[in-house]
Amino acid sequence: MEKEFVVIGLGRFGGSIVKELNKLDIDVMAIDSDEARVNEYADIATHAVIADTTDETVLKSLGIRNFDHVVVAIGDNIQASILTTLILKDLGVAQVTAKAQNDYHAKVLSKIGADTVVHPERDMGRRIAHKLSNASVLDYLELADEHSIVEIIAGPTLEGRSILDLDLRANYGLNIIAIKRNSHITVSPDPEEYIERGDILIVIGHDNDLSRFESKLENK
Ligand code: ATP
Repeated sequence: MEKEFVVIGLGRFGGSIVKELNKLDIDVMAIDSDEARVNEYADIATHAVIADTTDETVLKSLGIRNFDHVVVAIGDNIQASILTTLILKDLGVAQVTAKAQNDYHAKVLSKIGADTVVHPERDMGRRIAHKLSNASVLDYLELADEHSIVEIIAGPTLEGRSILDLDLRANYGLNIIAIKRNSHITVSPDPEEYIERGDILIVIGHDNDLSRFESKLENK
């Protein structure tokens, strides 16, 4: 059976989720208290509804508990975001993903039962800072608190070294999970594999260990 999704709050973040689900041919109900916003999504969402989601009776009448996953994309109005999340979990919605505006908001959302808390501005900021700070870092993805995956392009420091010889696990507590060479990707590469200039190493580990390794590569 296909999953049923609801997005509450049609700002840039919530709106882009609705558009992307629509492109993926996935049914989505879009809700916002602002009529103009809802009208914008009338032809994109499967159903577009004007509703104030801090009103429990409104959510009940929409049959919200029958949906598999609800995204709370209300940002600026933190009170509305918290109250909506609380009501959704109270009504028994299985999966609630909520967008946080700041760390305190994120903590409260987790405490009241949000299954996933996302912090898009902070995460994107961190990602860009890592890319800016080191020319070898192509991308950075936070996995959980203090653990990340980075994509590192091999320059002169890594060129011609084998994975065994680098021994990132012993030296930095890091693991190379894949190597991209041209358009080919090798998952769990052989330790005997020699790194070529321009290879992209996909490395996983603790943020402190990743930073130590990144600084070793700086300008080299
Ligand atoms: P973004 O950062 O994603 O662009 P935004 O700044 O445009 O968001 P926000 O204030 O974060 O807007 O709110 C997103 C949407 O949530 C708005 O369109 C707003 O009308 C809607 N919204 C706010 N409160 C409620 C509520 N109680 N019920 C339903 N929708 C709400």
